Amino acid sequence: MLEIVTLVLGPVSTNTYLIADSASGEAAVIDPAWDGHLILIEAEKRGWRIGQVWITHAHFDHIGGTGDLVRGLDPAPVIALHPNDRPLWDSQGGAALFGFSIPPTLRQAQGTGPAPGIDLSAGMALKLGGLHFEVRHTPGHTPGLCVFYCAEASVCFCGDLIFQRSVGRTDLLGGDWEALVASIRTQIYTLPDGTRLLPGHGEETTVGEEKRENPFIPPVTQGKFAPQCS
Ligand SMILES: [Zn+2]
Ligand SMILES: [Zn+2]
Repeated sequence: MLEIVTLVLGPVSTNTYLIADSASGEAAVIDPAWDGHLILIEAEKRGWRIGQVWITHAHFDHIGGTGDLVRGLDPAPVIALHPNDRPLWDSQGGAALFGFSIPPTLRQAQGTGPAPGIDLSAGMALKLGGLHFEVRHTPGHTPGLCVFYCAEASVCFCGDLIFQRSVGRTDLLGGDWEALVASIRTQIYTLPDGTRLLPGHGEETTVGEEKRENPFIPPVTQGKFAPQCS
């Protein structure tokens, strides 16, 4: 069974998801936003072993706790990121653009160590114990944003692609409104309506709710939307 612990961390209240396969105790962290030691405490409490870090996208508020987290784990976890967001990772998640500076632990980590070791790509399968997650590449908020969909658990971790009644901003470096719209319509609205969406900020929602209520991206009306791929 998939177990999910949500931690709200960092200067812009980012959702970090500590997830585990309860049968095996194998755990992964989706977006270690800040304060990695707090994530470690939660895992230790439950007897979970964190072996993987999955990054939805490399904005500073989603990676700021990575150095701290990795330093507390032996063996070090593997880090998975889409290569399109690697430049953002290498520039400390664009922290300076937001007027923030990244925690020193991440700076150190980037100098000495944990570089992403897994290049995420569309359709890739990620395993966590007995559970399977499908990687969906959903550019728009950043060029490399990926969501992680677990069909068995009817849940999709969607980073800053879509929020409850809102969507990710596209005015930052690498943002692309048309791409965001296409990503949501082809990769999120095509999931079963009951799928839980666990976003990078704020409350969880479902695919069905957003198709009905999201004021920014209504579902495709026939004839109005042509898929970009042919
Ligand atoms: Zn973001
Ligand atoms: Zn964010």
